[in-house]
Amino acid sequence: MGDTPLESDDIALPACRDRAWTRRAIELLQGDRRRSADTHLLKPFFAGLGGLSIYLKDESTHPTGSLKHRLAHSLLLYGICNGRIDEGTTLVEASSGSTAVSEAYFARLLGLPFIAVMPRSTSRAKVEAIESFGGRCHFVDTPGEVYGVAAELARATGGHYLDQFTNAERATDWRGNNNIAESIFNQMQAEPAPVPDWIVMSAGTGGTSATIGRYIRYRNLPTRLCVADVEHSAFYDAYVTGDMSVTCSTPSRIEGVGRPRVEPSFTPGAIDHMMRVPDAASIAAAHVLSDRLFRRVGGSTGTNFYALCRLAAAMLREKRGGALVTLICDSGERYASTYFDADWLKANGIDIAPHRTTIERFLDTGAFLPER
Ligand SMILES: *Cc1c(COP(=O)(O)O)cnc(C)c1O
Repeated sequence: MGDTPLESDDIALPACRDRAWTRRAIELLQGDRRRSADTHLLKPFFAGLGGLSIYLKDESTHPTGSLKHRLAHSLLLYGICNGRIDEGTTLVEASSGSTAVSEAYFARLLGLPFIAVMPRSTSRAKVEAIESFGGRCHFVDTPGEVYGVAAELARATGGHYLDQFTNAERATDWRGNNNIAESIFNQMQAEPAPVPDWIVMSAGTGGTSATIGRYIRYRNLPTRLCVADVEHSAFYDAYVTGDMSVTCSTPSRIEGVGRPRVEPSFTPGAIDHMMRVPDAASIAAAHVLSDRLFRRVGGSTGTNFYALCRLAAAMLREKRGGALVTLICDSGERYASTYFDADWLKANGIDIAPHRTTIERFLDTGAFLPER
C-alpha cells in the first residue's frame, strides 16, 4: 500500500471469502459425472451400404435426455470456477429448451434458483421437464428475443446469465477430458476403420461442432467435419459467404438447431464442409432412423442422419469403404406432438413421404435418388 511503512497489523493474512459452498458444488458435479457411464456408440446395420460403417453416438441416454447434459455440466463448472456462481445465485439462460432442461437439473442438484427464457413454441415436454426440476419458464414471442430478455432478467435478479451461445465453445474442454470427440475416437479404436472419414453434426450453439473440429486438428486426425444446417438458420449462409453478421428472421422448425444469428460459439474455421438440409428431409430421416432403431430420435438427429446419408452416398459412388459418425442428440419422445404427429406435419405444410422413400431406398440398396 503506497508508502505506508509495514505495521505489525499488515502482516496478518488477508481474510478471504469462504469457499465451502464452491467446494461442495464441485463435489456434487463430480458426483454426477462419476455416476454416469459413457454414452453408447451404436452401430446399426444397413443392407445397402456395403463396406461403409455407420456409427451413432447416443446422447439421448444422459440423465437429462440430450447432449446438453454435457454442456450444462461444463457451463456450471465454468461459472463456479470463475467465481460467478455462488450460494443462492439465480441462474438464467436463453434456450430453445434442451439446455434449459439440463441446467434446471444441475440448478436443482446445487440448490440454486433457475429461470429459462424460451420461445413460446418450445415443446411442452421440455417445459414440463424444466418445471419438474423446480425451474421457472419465461416465454418470449420470437427466438431472437431470448438473449436480451435473459441478460435483463439476470441483471434484475442479481443472478448469472449462463449464456450458452457465447460460452459453449469456451466452457468445454476441447483437448480431451473425455469430451464428446475424445470419447468417439476412443470408442472407435477397435473398429475396422477406427478413424472415421466423416463426423457429421448439426449446430445450435455450434459448441459441439467446435469441440469436434478442434479435437480433430489438435490430434492431427484426417477425419473431416461436416456441419448440417436447417432451412431457417444463419449458420449456412455465414459459412458460405464469410459474413458473420447474417441473420434469419424465420424461426427454425427443428428444435435445438438453426439460429436467427451466427452465435459466438460457432467456429467456422474448425469446420471442413457445411450442408443445408430441408426440414422435410430432417424429419423424414428422423422417422426412418426411428423405425430402424426401434425407438424415436429427435428432429436434429434427422438433420444429422440425412447429411450423413448424402456423404455416404458420395463415398459409395466413389467405391470407397470407411466409416461415418454422427450423434443422436435427443430422443423423439419429446416430439410426439410435433414431428411424429401427422396433423402437425400437415398444418406445417411438411410432406416427408418423398424424402422417406429416398432415405429408405438408400439404406436398403445404396442408391441415393432424390424424388422429383
Ligand atoms: C443443442 C442441440 C444441438 C446442437 O448442439 P450444439 O452443440 O449446441 O451446436 C442439436 N440437437 C439438439 C436436440 C440440441 O439440443
